[in-house]
Amino acid sequence: PPVELPIHEAVLGRAAAFGEAPALIDGTDGTTLTYEQVDRFHRRIAAALAEAGVRKGDVLALHSPNTISFPVAFYAATRAGATVTTVHPLATAEEFGKQLRDSAARWIVTVSPMLDIARRAAEISGGVREIFVCDSAPGHRSLIDMLASTAPAPEVDIDAAEDVAALPYSSGTTGVPKGVMLTHRQIATNLAQLQPAISAGPGDRILAVLPFFHIYGLTALMNAPLRQGATVVVLPRFDLTTFLAAVQNHRITGLYVAPPIVLALAKHPLVADYDLSSLKYLVSAAAPLDAQLAAACSKRLGLPPVGQAYGMTELSPGTHVVPLDAVHDAPPGTVGRLIAGTQMRIVSLDDPGKDLAVGESGEILIRGPQVMKGYLGRPDATAAMIDGDGWLHTGDVGHVDQDGWLFVVDRVKELIKYKGFQVAPAELEALLLTHPGIADAAVVGVHDDDGNEIPHAHVVRRPTAPDLSEGEVMMYVAERVAPYKRVRRVTFIDGVPRAASGKILRRRLRERP
Ligand code: ATP
Ligand code: MG
Repeated sequence: PPVELPIHEAVLGRAAAFGEAPALIDGTDGTTLTYEQVDRFHRRIAAALAEAGVRKGDVLALHSPNTISFPVAFYAATRAGATVTTVHPLATAEEFGKQLRDSAARWIVTVSPMLDIARRAAEISGGVREIFVCDSAPGHRSLIDMLASTAPAPEVDIDAAEDVAALPYSSGTTGVPKGVMLTHRQIATNLAQLQPAISAGPGDRILAVLPFFHIYGLTALMNAPLRQGATVVVLPRFDLTTFLAAVQNHRITGLYVAPPIVLALAKHPLVADYDLSSLKYLVSAAAPLDAQLAAACSKRLGLPPVGQAYGMTELSPGTHVVPLDAVHDAPPGTVGRLIAGTQMRIVSLDDPGKDLAVGESGEILIRGPQVMKGYLGRPDATAAMIDGDGWLHTGDVGHVDQDGWLFVVDRVKELIKYKGFQVAPAELEALLLTHPGIADAAVVGVHDDDGNEIPHAHVVRRPTAPDLSEGEVMMYVAERVAPYKRVRRVTFIDGVPRAASGKILRRRLRERP
């Protein structure tokens, strides 16, 4: 059944009971917030925000890297009745300004090192009433000062089914990022749906290395562990050395990562220098993960098989997960089983009315309580995504096996149509990564001189293989795949462009001359 609770209640409802247990630890300086503090602080700040003028339905932009203040600011804002739109901490003033304007945001919460960008963004948008800072900066009210607030707690009547709690923007992998309206009920219900499979609890230490601003980090690294009484160790950004040191020094038990981190854990020489023995499980989501790479990673770390999860911003975000207690039974490469209370169909790409059988690949459709309310201000885009019967068309291609495990092949839009055959870039990328001289790779469809769409590989060479040639790369693939899947063009690059959530920005590669 749907959970009719505001998000701050759904997450912090048991915070008082967890009391003095550490909720959040700053991974760089060790500063700790207990559950009791998170609970008390977010109420105080909510009161102060209300006193400053924040009203129900106002949009508040949270512009911050991962810090221990981020969750406190988030729940304070929703308790004050605001809708929180999370902002990429590396956004330029122009990008941030666009998001402010698009979302009609009236308030900003930022951190002092990013204040200049926030100010310029506010100028661009013109609609911002005040900029608050989490730490402190002259001329700005700070959340720390708000802790001394004696203002009465705001009495905001939140309608969990209708009111929008969060307005994250989709990653912009396939086009412009769109504001996704997620109600309190959608997020709270999805947390309850996912929880049996995740089950981190008191004593677990989760490393928040993926950004909170993205729905994956927001869910797996903030809402879910805090709801369960686990401890979240917070790192401001991903850097392999800091990350490995944090796992070792904070005795991290669970990691939620994206495929590029699995790649680093499987292959990078630095990994061998750290004691990662506290780890009990590793979960990957947000982008396709090759089964062989996942196996290499868990073997190297002495961990159970990597469990995957699948979702998207528009799904609050989860629909599939490999339950932690089923990682040994799950077939390699699966993104998981459908969670309770959710329906899925797999339909033909050529004939969207036709449901496909076990093993056949088609577009994944989802219906359930976690389907977004809609895209903000884009009724056409919403209608294109959610049909009249409530089915959300994910744009992802996949198939299920006879036991219901889902396999995601790639995005419909990324499939390369070579002379009538479909080629999934993700499959070729996984294969390229098995070459000892290749550090990273991305494949995109491009048109050759005859107008055929062909797979074009962008390859990052390892320092140990500076002479690796285009011909060798093409040959390596040709020896291992059906002829129609061959890579037909190779370009060497310095790095694969990726979104903060780890997704390959193929669009950027296509735009290259
Ligand atoms: P935009 O919609 O703006 O183009 P985006 O789709 O990348 O950006 P997100 O909502 O962050 O934005 O990502 C959701 C997508 O991530 C899914 O549609 C799917 O393509 C991909 N994805 C998520 N989890 C997995 C997974 N386990 N395996 C493969 N792909 C995944
Ligand atoms: Mg998308």
